[in-house]
Amino acid sequence: MNSLQIHPVPALRDNYIWIIHDAVHAAIVDPGDALPVISYLNSQQLQPVAILITHHHGDHTGGNLQLLKRFDLPVYGPLHEKIPTVNNPVREGDRIQLAPLALTLDVIEISGHTRGHVAYFAATQPNNLLFCGDTLFSCGCGRIFEGTPRQMYDALRKLTSLPDNTLVYCAHEYTLGNIAFARTVEPDNADLRKLEQRANQMRQQYLPTLPTDMATEKACNPFLRCQHSGIIRCVEQFTGRKLTDPVEVFAALREWKNIF
Ligand code: ZN
Ligand code: FE
Repeated sequence: MNSLQIHPVPALRDNYIWIIHDAVHAAIVDPGDALPVISYLNSQQLQPVAILITHHHGDHTGGNLQLLKRFDLPVYGPLHEKIPTVNNPVREGDRIQLAPLALTLDVIEISGHTRGHVAYFAATQPNNLLFCGDTLFSCGCGRIFEGTPRQMYDALRKLTSLPDNTLVYCAHEYTLGNIAFARTVEPDNADLRKLEQRANQMRQQYLPTLPTDMATEKACNPFLRCQHSGIIRCVEQFTGRKLTDPVEVFAALREWKNIF
């Protein structure tokens, strides 16, 4: 079995279209734009075998039609969202076998950013892989457009129950902005400071800060740390009232980030 590589194709403003490939076959995650994908496939002489969609937003689906005009591909995507180009709807617990890539993906439903948002998880060696669209970002999380704070909170809990060595392939390069907010919320977090240094170095070289991994996110991402007393105190200062429930803390933190 060829070992898998995962390559970011930068697209639109700050999207990454992840290409999972074994030097012959490729799966395309969230192609918001077709042209950069086609030119990468051509340059590497890769044959696409599938498209995987996490949610319906245009910056994740906009390239589908053009790719389908060129290639006859299965398009996997959330059953609970209307995406005309999806021809293989998937739901919680479904397992996708991408035989040419020897890759098995488990579907995890994570509503909140959108109502039907899904993630794709692969138990591979040496690291597990997670493609989580706009739900979990490095040091941040997606905006709650269609779901409730409770749904988003539960979605993030679901993702953090995955093993620590899971590599997290987020769909946007938001890391530095997220870290600036995280430092406001948790100024004394030493892991966060280390992550900031690393992320700054990467961006100075125009390199992606991704993938991140679940252990790093648990240590640094304020949206995954709503039980920590330091964060609770800080968010209480923002809201000006006592918060007793972690979901309340999470909701207030998300609102604060929206205006940060
Ligand atoms: Zn989105
Ligand atoms: Fe997006």
